[in-house]
Order: sequence, then structure tokens, then C-alpha cells
Amino acid sequence: MTRNRNASLATAASALVGASTYWATMSSQSQLLGAFPNRGLDDDPARPTIALTFDDGPNEPFTSRLAELLERRGALATFFQVGRAVARAPETTTALLAAGHVIGNHSYSHELHRCFTARLIDDEIRRAQDVFADKVQLQPRLYRPPWLARSPATFGVLRRHHLVPVSGTFCHPLEVAQYRPDRIAIRAVARARPGGMLIFHDGYNGRGADRTRTLDAVARVVDTLADRGWSFTTVDRLLGVDPYRSAPALTP
Ligand SMILES: [Zn+2]
Repeated sequence: MTRNRNASLATAASALVGASTYWATMSSQSQLLGAFPNRGLDDDPARPTIALTFDDGPNEPFTSRLAELLERRGALATFFQVGRAVARAPETTTALLAAGHVIGNHSYSHELHRCFTARLIDDEIRRAQDVFADKVQLQPRLYRPPWLARSPATFGVLRRHHLVPVSGTFCHPLEVAQYRPDRIAIRAVARARPGGMLIFHDGYNGRGADRTRTLDAVARVVDTLADRGWSFTTVDRLLGVDPYRSAPALTP
């Protein structure tokens, strides 16, 4: 009996440690390992403001279609891009910058196993910053870790690279898997908070992927929130930080 109870207690304790570790390293809300903002300033309660964010691109033709969709609605957004994807399509990143969107660093490879040790995190960040500097002549200051995964080492590495960590709120747990756009939109609107940062995906882990349903959902979300008096801003403005270490070049 005692042995069984001890075994149950050990199982419960290990589940608790596992859940706590997951919370600290993967949750969009945990601040345990370092400041990880998922909301920013919202100066005007009469006109709520939100930042739409798009991870894992550029990924054509979906990123350009998304930019057209946003332009038709007069909305700016923040794109957390993967270095290896930028290396493949730097002209897409350049076009986003020219349209007024903001670009952040989302690692070089988007590999989960490279998110936890100082050496690998540093390598991912530095390689991505090198691609941005080389291909689009800028150095982002905003960094969103792939999978929102971070370790105690993450925040020191970010400080050395003068990067600001950014969390956010996933628009829908199945958006990345291209669930029904109407359902994604309903959940995204329900999760919208003044000063919030909603996470969508215009790519998939820095690889090519069909994002038709995300684009459909985004059109619905922007139209619904705009009808309700919301406006759209970028993460740097919500957090009150400069988005780049040097001015972006607007011509290739
Ligand atoms: Zn990602």
C-alpha cells in the first residue's frame, strides 16, 4: 500500500515538474525565466488597438497575398521571419518593409532542439541577423522564439544581441494546421485584447506551406475588428521600442 502510494506521489511529483517546466519554457504567458511581453501599451481605450503578427515566413505566394489583403484594409502588421526563408525570398521582406510593415527575428532554422542552450540560441540568432543585414540591410530588435520556447539562457543571449523578446496570443490552437477559417476567425476575435498581439502563421517552420485558410481567417478578423472600432498597429509601437538597430533600406 505504502509502496503504491509512494509510487503515485512520485508520479504526481514528476508530472508537476513536467508541467511546471513546460509552463516556464513554452507558455505564452510565463514570465518565470525573463520578461516575455504578450501585451503592450494601448493608449486610447475609446479606440482599442491590437498588433497582428505573422510567423514563419516569408512564404510565397501567401506572404504577398497577405500583404495585399492588409493593404486593401489599411492595416499594418509585424512579421517574425525565419532567416533561412528570408535568404530564399529577400524581395518579399523588402516589399513588406516598403509597405510599412515591421520585421522581427524568428531564428534562422526554426528547429525546436536549437532553442535551449546558449550556444545554439546564439548561433540561431546571429545567423538570422546576418541574413537580415546581408539581404535587406537591417538588424531587427524584436525577437520571437520559435514555438515561444525559451530557457534560462535565452534572455542573456538576447541582451547581448540587443534584442527584445516578444510573446503573443495564438489566434487559434489549430490555425497552424489550417483549420476552418470561420472557426479560426471567431476564436481570434474572442482572444483580441486592447494592446494585445495575435499570432498567425504566413509560413510553416520556415518552409513552404499552403496558408490559404489563414489568409481567409485574417480577412474576417480584420473586417470584424475594424467594424467594432479597432485599429491595427505594430509590436514595436505597442512595446515602445525601436524596431531596428539601423534604418531599413527601402530599395533592394
Ligand atoms: Zn514559428
